[in-house]
Amino acid sequence: MNSQTSAGLAAGPWATSRQIGEATVTTLTDGVFRLDGGAMFGTVPRVFWETAAPADELNRIRLRINPLLIQLGGQNILVETGFWDQGGEKFESIYALDRDETVFRGLGAVGLAPGDIDIVINTHLHFDHAGRNVTPAGEPTFPNARYVVQRQELEDARFPHERSRASYIPGTFEPLLEAGLFDVVEGEAEIVPGVRVVPLPGHNLGQQGVILESGGETLVYTADLVATRAHAPYAFVMGYDLYPVTCLEERKRWLPQWFEQGAVLCPPHDPDGAFFRLAESKKGFTLEPLSP
Ligand SMILES: [Zn+2]
Repeated sequence: MNSQTSAGLAAGPWATSRQIGEATVTTLTDGVFRLDGGAMFGTVPRVFWETAAPADELNRIRLRINPLLIQLGGQNILVETGFWDQGGEKFESIYALDRDETVFRGLGAVGLAPGDIDIVINTHLHFDHAGRNVTPAGEPTFPNARYVVQRQELEDARFPHERSRASYIPGTFEPLLEAGLFDVVEGEAEIVPGVRVVPLPGHNLGQQGVILESGGETLVYTADLVATRAHAPYAFVMGYDLYPVTCLEERKRWLPQWFEQGAVLCPPHDPDGAFFRLAESKKGFTLEPLSP
């Protein structure tokens, strides 16, 4: 892979930059982890997904968590903060967590430190997405940032039920709440001109995606509505999705729009790729990787 970003900055393969109109977007990564392949594909039998997502001897498939940096109008916006870093050895071995890269290294590759982030967008508060919101010392990891989250998601994280509790780590959001650092939004909201969040329920109720529109181009951070390139077909809904039919409805509502717009898509967990475009297929859509 080309290690030179389009902005001309030296970076590793996981700080890949691309221009979207006036904005520079950079895909980052906070490492590789593994989850049960069956759980990742819900009711879809293994024979239909194992070529796209090969499983290991424990039936786990390889995933990444890929935060996204959007630089627009002098603002540094970080979408997702990374995988929880305080789980200890046993926790990390369950998920086969391998921090081959970190969000901090990726930011460093484009010349930024955590203090340079102005806005953090949490698509939702699961520990693989919002895990680095707060440092081990209980301080905000991005000390000069406001953290944008949906009201529904904050409520569900604070008051989880038996089916959702394992996904939330109170230490990743309670300190921000106490410090008044959340910008709580309800529904669609403009974050800065050209960047908005939109509700994408299905994975849970309060998930939001991020849509960047600049210079006639569109980029979408899909959150877990489309977790990896292998999840583009309509029916490939995850066992982890709390509301699978809602997830299907949201895909049918959004994917044709994003296809029509020729949008660049960033799925949060693709293990190998950064930027994609939709292509039509008989199962709905596929995601085709774009070269950087
Ligand atoms: Zn996720």
